[in-house]
Amino acid sequence: MEHEAGLKVVDALDLESEVCGLLRPGANVVGKRGDSHRLPRYFYEVPSREAAADVRLTPHFGLNEFLLVDLKEAGRLRAFPRYVPCAVRVLAFYLERLRDALGAPIHLAVNGGYRSPAHKLAVGATPHMWGTAADIYKIGNVLVRDQATIETYNRVVEDVSDDLWVMPFGHEIGATDDHIHLDLGYLTLVPREIAEDPSERRRESPRYAFEERRRGDRRGWPDAGDLADLVRERGPEDHE
Ligand SMILES: [Zn+2]
Repeated sequence: MEHEAGLKVVDALDLESEVCGLLRPGANVVGKRGDSHRLPRYFYEVPSREAAADVRLTPHFGLNEFLLVDLKEAGRLRAFPRYVPCAVRVLAFYLERLRDALGAPIHLAVNGGYRSPAHKLAVGATPHMWGTAADIYKIGNVLVRDQATIETYNRVVEDVSDDLWVMPFGHEIGATDDHIHLDLGYLTLVPREIAEDPSERRRESPRYAFEERRRGDRRGWPDAGDLADLVRERGPEDHE
């Protein structure tokens, strides 16, 4: 299968002009307070729906969860191959930590993961355009819809890491009353597969991420879930 080799890492400046024009790699966008930020430049190329479903960013978060969009996203960016900023794997890492803290599955909303600068909800410089923001509408079986629920979970998010920012409860712009928004700010990631020297930009052979884990799979290493069980069994604490 095409995605067996891992996900191709791309410099969006090298992509076809339509995609490049929609992703606007390296372009400045201005936030609500007049602060300007540079859009991400390095993306994972997701060749197919199957690849999106197969790639796990963490034990409990698949890549496809960050790609849920509706017609508010530009048509070309809803068609495969699709593109997602490389920093999404850092977001998934933090969401996995949050999931541990909550002890329950986290459900991302449609349009609640990566949104391109061309997305109709991508106003100002929202970190959703960096792939570093998540909108959560359900935790376990609890719909996040009222002040008490949102404020309680927001405190849990803040306790997980100072790197995470949560949107306060409220009905005005810049607040939320029907989901939890958390983000890592304008974090960009230059993957190890990329050379940043412009003279090296165009490579004969593409670079692929997520290969190391696959090498591990080939050697018969236990998968991440089994490893977690192993650690739990050997750990000093009893977990229910
Ligand atoms: Zn959001």
